[in-house]
Amino acid sequence: MILRLLLGDQLNDAHSWFQEQDQSNYLYVMMEVQSETNYVKQHKQKIVAFFSAMRNFAETLSSKGCQVYYIKINDSLNKHSFEENIKGLIESFSITAIHYQLPDEYRLYQVFKNFKSIFSLEVKAFETEHFFCSLSEIAELGKEKKYYLLENFYRHLRKKHQVLVINDKPLGGKWNFDAENRNKWKNQVPIPHVVHFKNDVSDVVEDLKAMNIETFGKFTSISNYPKSREQALLQLDYFITHLLPHFGTYQDAMHTDEVWLFHSNLSFAMNVKMLSPNEVVQKVEDYYGTNQDKVGLAQVEGFIRQILGWREFVRMVYWNKFNELKSGNFLEHERALPEVYWTGKSKMKCVATCAQNSLDHAYAHHIQRLMVLGNYALLMESHPDEVDAWYLGVYVDAIEWVQLPNTRGMSQFADGGIVATKPYISSANYIDKMSNYCASCSFDKKTKTEENSCPFNSLYWHFLDRNRNRLESNQRMKMMYAMMNKMDQQELSKINERAHFLIEKRNL
Ligand code: FAD
Repeated sequence: MILRLLLGDQLNDAHSWFQEQDQSNYLYVMMEVQSETNYVKQHKQKIVAFFSAMRNFAETLSSKGCQVYYIKINDSLNKHSFEENIKGLIESFSITAIHYQLPDEYRLYQVFKNFKSIFSLEVKAFETEHFFCSLSEIAELGKEKKYYLLENFYRHLRKKHQVLVINDKPLGGKWNFDAENRNKWKNQVPIPHVVHFKNDVSDVVEDLKAMNIETFGKFTSISNYPKSREQALLQLDYFITHLLPHFGTYQDAMHTDEVWLFHSNLSFAMNVKMLSPNEVVQKVEDYYGTNQDKVGLAQVEGFIRQILGWREFVRMVYWNKFNELKSGNFLEHERALPEVYWTGKSKMKCVATCAQNSLDHAYAHHIQRLMVLGNYALLMESHPDEVDAWYLGVYVDAIEWVQLPNTRGMSQFADGGIVATKPYISSANYIDKMSNYCASCSFDKKTKTEENSCPFNSLYWHFLDRNRNRLESNQRMKMMYAMMNKMDQQELSKINERAHFLIEKRNL
């Protein structure tokens, strides 16, 4: 009998493993282990969403005639590590070989690589068959500097996979329709409700409780996240017909009363591989092909770029630059993450709202993650290890291959500019432009140095001043430094003084 190991983010029933006619010689093994629940403190909704999707996948495989051995978190024989549990199964099931799908995370990639020396059996690794780029393609692309620019990488994949392309030229004459996107949402169009699922997850919740698994975040239900491929497909169809028509337009918008706006909320389903990125992109492109009266190219291209572009791009960077990413602290930030990330409480309306959304739903959309929470952690000089740990724990879609490049690279610039060409920072101005947060905030968005001035305003200029030596020669920062150079020195001293006070105070 061959043991085939499946991880919680490998719930892909279209994998070629499951297309084999004769399944009698395979034992599919899935396990809930504390090495996965405890490697970082995680949001309860995240763990529950993963475990309920895993349990459902195991049932689906069994119903298709596969032999499945599922180890629950509270099973008495659970040794809570992949190696130890496998050791036990080798004896009980007379296992002759081990197959596994390549993990997406470096941590597990290393653990599984050691299987060959731990077990004296044949061990074979398989691609997950999920991403547009295979691991060997990633290694090839990573050798060329030009592919570390999202735009080059994205165009290459558009052409290679013939997505929104005719004769190697972009549909509509442009590769990028950003200029038409990114408006503030002021109730111009109603936001359709998000899809809810009535999944009973009480068994998972009870089992976690019995094992005293430490979690954080609000938990009432996990009705926003699918547990099966069927539910994920419903979510995808709903997105395409109801939300895609305004996706790009309001992609960067934020609002106090709206958590998802026109975002797809598909990251969990894709990251656990219930949905393939290829089918998501195909469905969106096909819909556009027959419904151009309902959805514009700018919306479609904007969405496809997130998946064919950003999602594949950050994975390419993750595997090629793992060491630089994992340990980078280019800006030498050493401080603790402010309390608001754990409590949702701050006088700063924007930070409080985005942190609270994250704690309530294990979700925040991209601009909340980048331009509010990431921006704040960065300007408050938080240690990138602390920032990583929070991001990896809080979001339902957080798996290191996608979390690390986004957090450490794009949002904290701790990699010194591998993922992003400049730090993503802003003062109150940008946040006010894209949201209604400032309207109900007790801080003043216009001033910099008063007692009630928005903290972002002094923190922003202080950041530039502090990092002048590191950033001034960056072409994309030239305009900011030109503005700063015109600033009155006394004003700059006052700004720095206020920023120091805020950074020391931490809980604003
Ligand atoms: P939509 O806005 O509807 O976008 C559609 C899809 O595009 C997403 O589902 C996602 O698969 C993909 N996508 C969009 N932007 C990115 C990106 N920058 N990188 C990779 N894929 C992208 N995404 C994760 O899946 N897991 C994470 O742990 C994660 N951490 C992040 C941390 C920070 C600091 C930042 C700035 C971004 C992070 N992202 C992460 C990317 C992005 O914010 C989420 O994918 C997105 O918010 C998920 O919500 P959605 O499905 O509604 O996305």
